[in-house]
Amino acid sequence: MCYDYLYRYYAKFSEEGFKKIMSNGTNCRNTQYNYIPTFTGPGHASIYTGTTPSNHGIIANDWHDRKTNKEKNCVGDINYISTGSNTKNGQCSPLNLKALTITDQLKLTYPTSKVISISIKNRGAILPGGHKSDGTYWLDQATGDFITSTYYTKELPNWLKNFNDQKMPEKYMNQTWNTLLPIESYSESSSDNSPYEELIFGNSTPTFPYTFTKLDETEKLKAFSATPFANTHLLNASIEAIKNEQLGKHNTPDFLCVSFSSTDILGHAYGPQSIEIEDMYLRLDLEIAKLLSTIENEVGKNEYTLFITADHAVVPVPQLLIDQQLPGGYFFFEKPLKNLRDSCVQKFGFDCILNESNNNIYIDKQKLKIKDINITVVQNYIKEQLKLISNIKNVYTAEELENSEQADYWKNLVKSGYQKVESGDIIFTLEPGFLPYYKDTKKNRQGTSHGSGYSYDTHVPLLWYGKNIPQQEVYRKIEITDITATLTHILNLAKPSMTTGEPILEILENK
Ligand SMILES: [Zn+2]
Repeated sequence: MCYDYLYRYYAKFSEEGFKKIMSNGTNCRNTQYNYIPTFTGPGHASIYTGTTPSNHGIIANDWHDRKTNKEKNCVGDINYISTGSNTKNGQCSPLNLKALTITDQLKLTYPTSKVISISIKNRGAILPGGHKSDGTYWLDQATGDFITSTYYTKELPNWLKNFNDQKMPEKYMNQTWNTLLPIESYSESSSDNSPYEELIFGNSTPTFPYTFTKLDETEKLKAFSATPFANTHLLNASIEAIKNEQLGKHNTPDFLCVSFSSTDILGHAYGPQSIEIEDMYLRLDLEIAKLLSTIENEVGKNEYTLFITADHAVVPVPQLLIDQQLPGGYFFFEKPLKNLRDSCVQKFGFDCILNESNNNIYIDKQKLKIKDINITVVQNYIKEQLKLISNIKNVYTAEELENSEQADYWKNLVKSGYQKVESGDIIFTLEPGFLPYYKDTKKNRQGTSHGSGYSYDTHVPLLWYGKNIPQQEVYRKIEITDITATLTHILNLAKPSMTTGEPILEILENK
């Protein structure tokens, strides 16, 4: 969620959702991510551990694993299987997360507290819920059911089984998605039939109304996650969790983590200027209003504290930037990477590059050892070659990142996202407005993504509301790792193991 959505869509929000939180709670208007890359896995991990990937180890969503020489997923774990389906979508655990979360700290301190975490995406549920949750659930896109993994439990709770038995995703996908308000009134967004939008719902144009009739049953379940229906479904599951797990009714605090993934999934295809994204947020506003009223009914009006933020924001579609003559574009790595590999062969007698992922280059250290070539020489050589490529802004070697003390702003962002076991040997960043892809395809020139250290990716909303939260706006810069540092004091806990953020004093001292 981009920070400006709060204001771009403000006039169309209801009175009981974002508006109520913004006008009665604390609005940290200058909240920034403090590392690169701004992806979903690192985002959730950093919010809930109060530290950066350099410490918690979630350096991307997927990256190259040196041990196995294969791709590794931030929450993938083949030692566990699905609970709640027969697919492989439950082969997950939080064991790549090397730091304690605020939810872990709560469970460690007060075993009677309950932690429930739920999301459409597995990483959106697993990383917030931490290592000790009482229930961590995500949607199996193959079955449409909420599942978990045997890391947590061998059986779903009855309330979730009953919820799944309603088979709502299939029913939703037989409905039509039309705009909440008359489509002419979406003046905050660009026109509906836009060349920058990807076709993901089987229609011939990216326009309302969406009927999903051209998709088969499997495709429908997959596409479900990109619709506003999935937010409704997730919210309804969260409400079942509140009621059935008796959240807020124990002697010690309970913690509910809800991560709405569909805004990201739809956003990748449609971009932040689309009517589709605006409509999804107007509907999400109503879901949030429903969540507040449920908690107020079930737990009590002044008996809960809530924060809302985003795991990253997003860049406008780069093709739109190009067409409007703004800085930005695409970085297609296929050719430059081939040239780089060829030049390594010329220079060192073999291709030293094992893998490139997330702008990290992994060097074949074993081969270097056999050939008795110094890694620093290779790192520096690749760095110099990368620096010659247009639209690459900065290049850092692992050695530089490990040895530098406080550096300049951009280097610090990379340093905070670098972890010596998991990250590559050379990390580069692109000029602002650029998205990296391997190949130049039509699909890659539609829709958008995120991951950089620039404000369009790092500036996110941060709203606090409820018990002991003062009504105020904070303009001082807040870093994303400050959330857990603040929650630590709201919950009267000791700091989780690696929390490096600082508490937001405006919230704690003004209550
Ligand atoms: Zn994304």
